[in-house]
Amino acid sequence: MARYIGPVCRQCRREGVKLYLKGDRCYSDKCAFSKRGYAPGQHGQGRKKVSEYGIQLREKQKARRAYGILERQFRAYFDKADRQKGITGENLLVLLERRLDNVVYRLGFGSSRNQSRQLVRHGHFTVNGRRVNIPSYQIKAGDVIQVHESSKESPIMKEVAEGIGSKTVPAWLELSAADLSGKVVRYPNREEIDIPIQEHLIVELYSR
Ligand code: SF4
Repeated sequence: MARYIGPVCRQCRREGVKLYLKGDRCYSDKCAFSKRGYAPGQHGQGRKKVSEYGIQLREKQKARRAYGILERQFRAYFDKADRQKGITGENLLVLLERRLDNVVYRLGFGSSRNQSRQLVRHGHFTVNGRRVNIPSYQIKAGDVIQVHESSKESPIMKEVAEGIGSKTVPAWLELSAADLSGKVVRYPNREEIDIPIQEHLIVELYSR
């Protein structure tokens, strides 16, 4: 499955906002955006006039990068959101939040979406008792996500388990730290999705 493998912090600097892609490092003074909060490259510090299209494009790129998705898959999410009832922009964010790697991250298993994605890829989680190793797997309300029995003793999952419960879990999810599992109570509403994205700009971009 394709994913971005270039410099990670560069993405935050390009979007002009912290996207928290590197876990604990993002909260330390090693954060590249805190040190150099301007766009990367030779002209990164120059003043630029940004067109309406440019603003819409940046908003879409920001969303894509926050969730670690490449263009084609992002576009597919948009098309699906557009076919659903309701507000397209909000539908899009809910679809992104329902990705298994995101849910694992929101539950506190993994310090970043990237790490959570890797944990899923390595088959450390089950959904309703069945092992699922597809990061884009769409969870449904009522689903139970749990660390696979055979993974509980692995060094990486032991490390993850130590940090579990230290992060605030959103109200649409329910964490059971004792048995390393979480339940999807319902889908999130817009106010519960804390990524600084103006989704209507993405809708405008794709509606051109
Ligand atoms: Fe972004 Fe985190 Fe890198 Fe800071 S440390 S620039 S928040 S990925």
